[in-house]
Amino acid sequence: MIRDFEYFAPKTLEEALTLLDNYRDECKVIAGGQSLLILMRQGLVAPDYLIDIKGLSELNYIKSGAKEGLRIGALTTHRAIEKSPMIQDGFSVFAEMEQRLASIQTRNWGTIGGNLSHGDPAGDPAPVLIALNATLKMASLKGERTMAVEDFALDYFETALEPGELLTEIQLPVAPPHTGTAYTKFNVIESDLATVGVAVSITLSSGDGICDDVRIALGASAPTPMRAKQAEEVLRGKKITNNLLKEAGQIASTEAEPISDIYASEEYRRELVKVLVKRVGKEALARAKQA
Ligand SMILES: Cc1cc2nc3c(=O)[nH]c(=O)nc-3n(C[C@H](O)[C@H](O)[C@H](O)COP(=O)(O)OP(=O)(O)OC[C@H]3O[C@@H](n4cnc5c(N)ncnc54)[C@H](O)[C@@H]3O)c2cc1C
Repeated sequence: MIRDFEYFAPKTLEEALTLLDNYRDECKVIAGGQSLLILMRQGLVAPDYLIDIKGLSELNYIKSGAKEGLRIGALTTHRAIEKSPMIQDGFSVFAEMEQRLASIQTRNWGTIGGNLSHGDPAGDPAPVLIALNATLKMASLKGERTMAVEDFALDYFETALEPGELLTEIQLPVAPPHTGTAYTKFNVIESDLATVGVAVSITLSSGDGICDDVRIALGASAPTPMRAKQAEEVLRGKKITNNLLKEAGQIASTEAEPISDIYASEEYRRELVKVLVKRVGKEALARAKQA
């Protein structure tokens, strides 16, 4: 049963930030409620004050800018991202990931900002955004700050958001030429969270096809979404082959810090990392060659 709480539905960001600043630890923000309501029903979260930000239209947008690439408001729904021509054209891996996130009903109401703020290490968006080198913008009454998405999650369900702070925007930079990015997740139940998720982004130098840059991001493989930086070093500066991708997968599986739970054992998750890094790396490489 959900404990009683006082409900606020601010109309502007400033109003929301003022409420957050007033109630700090006693309040909780609700966006789509797709994750929060489950915790409230289970009694794991019982705020005295609930601040409903779903109506803040000023945080619901997908905008392109020549320099920044794309800016996505935190209240943009998963479904809006999946269906956006700007995302489909410029960041197709993001739209592909959204197609496999939860059900259409959840995607219609759940928001990208809520997903990231929830801090679930098995969430799909974070590894993809890490591979895409995204930046997050946060706001409080004190002002705004930004940070790389890979620094945002601190531990299981814990993020860098400070009391009184809201996640407001996701910024996607334009990828360098000859960049390919791919993502996949292994899950037992279709439309459920990842048992393991892997995103890989590869940038090739023009002409010789050497790997200029690479980002390998793992989901559900550690307390937070993480980069497999030692595995990246196997590929950086080299002409990527199947054998190198296999080696990168092996190294990534040792960098991962997975747990055993009802979905998979630690060993099984490491095996998934090994296989998926190679498989997704192959797809990212093929895309980079065509880009
Ligand atoms: C059946 C089901 C299946 C699912 N499957 C998947 C899946 O396959 N992959 C996946 O990644 N996710 C999955 N999810 C999780 C879910 O889709 C997301 O976590 C959800 O979209 C969160 O967004 P929301 O707007 O509903 O957040 P809410 O539930 O409203 O909030 C989540 C948390 O974020 C905080 N919060 C929300 N917005 C902000 C903000 N702007 N700034 C600061 N804090 C904020 C809230 O206080 C709360 O702590 C699934 C959920 C369900 C119910």
